[in-house]
Amino acid sequence: MECIFCRIVAGEIPADIVYQDKELLAFRDIHPQAPTHILIIPKSHIASMTELTSKQQALMGRLILLAKKLAEKEGISASGYRLSESTGADGGQLVPHLHFHLLGGRKLDDMLG
Ligand code: AMP
Ligand code: ZN
Repeated sequence: MECIFCRIVAGEIPADIVYQDKELLAFRDIHPQAPTHILIIPKSHIASMTELTSKQQALMGRLILLAKKLAEKEGISASGYRLSESTGADGGQLVPHLHFHLLGGRKLDDMLG
């Protein structure tokens, strides 16, 4: 298995896991860009947004709601936060396993490129 996030799902490499269930995993980013920087991923290997179909509709809905819950748990709900996703080369995606960044705990820069 070459995908680094699949290896985290499989427990082959360590991660600071903050949440998991049958389908979703959330863990702290190894190079945090903010006091809270959590990655939320589907456990199954989906390379990027381009692979999503209506089959993943409920899963993606649950992922968004998990982000909301984790923001509350991290205490950044009132101060605000950003949920961001990068797709492909122009999007700046480095790890080819779909992931959403939950960032907060400081005023974030304008990252609209
Ligand atoms: P990107 O693909 O650009 O959206 O970002 C990939 C993110 O994964 C970066 O923020 C990395 O710091 C993070 N990352 C890479 N390897 C690991 C790892 N083993 N554990 C936690 N985070 C990681
Ligand atoms: Zn993967």
